[in-house]
Amino acid sequence: MAIPKSIRLEFVTPERAIAHEDVDEVELPGEEGFFAVLPGHAPLLAALKTGPVWYRTGGEKRYAFIADGFAEVTGDRVSVLASVAERAEDIDITRAEAAKRRAEDRLAKPTADLDMERARIGMLRAISRLQIARQSRTRG
Ligand code: ATP
Repeated sequence: MAIPKSIRLEFVTPERAIAHEDVDEVELPGEEGFFAVLPGHAPLLAALKTGPVWYRTGGEKRYAFIADGFAEVTGDRVSVLASVAERAEDIDITRAEAAKRRAEDRLAKPTADLDMERARIGMLRAISRLQIARQSRTRG
């Protein structure tokens, strides 16, 4: 069977569509590490962790943030479903900085009822959003 030239990316959250387009390559943050999907990739179902996603069409790369998702590769399609995701250009840096400060304060001055895991997850999301937003803005 001929290898398809591009791969269809369907990337959604319950709140919004991030991408519905034909791309040449997608890189996702799998639980076991980052992995790339190119046209002709074998079928795959993978859990995703919090982190950056990029997808490329020709020389143009787009970046996004993802938290808690799954990716399914079937034939010429990659379906990415996440509980939370934003395109890099939609990340509000001020909000992410505030979330990071809140998480830092909670972790630095733990109270008896502090949910450490929640604070840690908040911190991880904020740091990842800041990295993605700043990198993509630097690249222009
Ligand atoms: P915050 O404390 O600022 O709400 P959070 O990490 O608790 O941050 P999430 O639960 O990850 O927020 O996301 C809740 C909703 O807010 C989602 O729709 C997500 O896309 C959006 N969101 C969260 N932070 C940002 C941000 N910095 N820029 C743009 N959208 C954001």
